[in-house]
Amino acid sequence: MGEGTVIGGAGSAGGGARRAEIAANLADVRKRIEAACAAAGRDAAEVTLVAVTKTFPASDVRLLAGLGLTQVAENRDQEAAPKAAATADLPLTWHFVGQLQSNKARSVAGYADVVQSVDRPKLVTALSSAAVRAGRTLRCLVQVSLEEPGENGEPEGRGGVSPSGAVALADAVAEAGGLVLGGVMAVAPLGADPAPAFARLAEVAAAVRAAHPEATDVSAGMSGDLEQAIACGATHVRVGTALLGGRRAIVG
Ligand SMILES: *Cc1c(COP(=O)(O)O)cnc(C)c1O
Repeated sequence: MGEGTVIGGAGSAGGGARRAEIAANLADVRKRIEAACAAAGRDAAEVTLVAVTKTFPASDVRLLAGLGLTQVAENRDQEAAPKAAATADLPLTWHFVGQLQSNKARSVAGYADVVQSVDRPKLVTALSSAAVRAGRTLRCLVQVSLEEPGENGEPEGRGGVSPSGAVALADAVAEAGGLVLGGVMAVAPLGADPAPAFARLAEVAAAVRAAHPEATDVSAGMSGDLEQAIACGATHVRVGTALLGGRRAIVG
């Protein structure tokens, strides 16, 4: 999928105006991160800003890189693969943050540096063999579900292993060839107070670190809740809307 499939894609507008818009948004987001770190008694250098560029054209990725951002994220392989290829000349670290089918592992292992959405053993196996085959090393975060369990005791909603299963999955990543365990990731439940969910994630992150001291990444917080995530120890915030504006519909 190319940029042309993004309805009303911003890439066509005057590049200067779009650059100024993104630069202003970036300054706002950096201020929010600094204020949240100050409030939490943390150093702003402890928090890495990851720009989520889904539905936005490769030209926006290029503008972000020109403004000094190096970390970008996508959630669908069909969109991410061509965008990463179109910006392969830039010094970017690509994060994959969406639900991932095992049969897409090989494609994702070709361009992603970090897979934040590792949620089951089968995906660990698929990513491991894909990384080994490609001669690449993938940093992997275990995605933890912070949803209330459904009637069958399994978490419902947007993916992730239950908190009680996170350490075992982290063990599997740590043992797998071609993969490095980075830490944990979560999305706050929709429509609920994110603070208790992020506090729960902090507990899971500590349990994972107890077994794997090198796994220090805690990816939590998006445009609407990055302050609460930073208060709970997030090391990575994933920000889309606040940087790039409202997402466009995608055809196909
Ligand atoms: C889209 C997305 C984000 C960014 O969300 P915004 O609210 O636009 O900042 C963060 N994390 C994941 C997993 C996403 O899919």
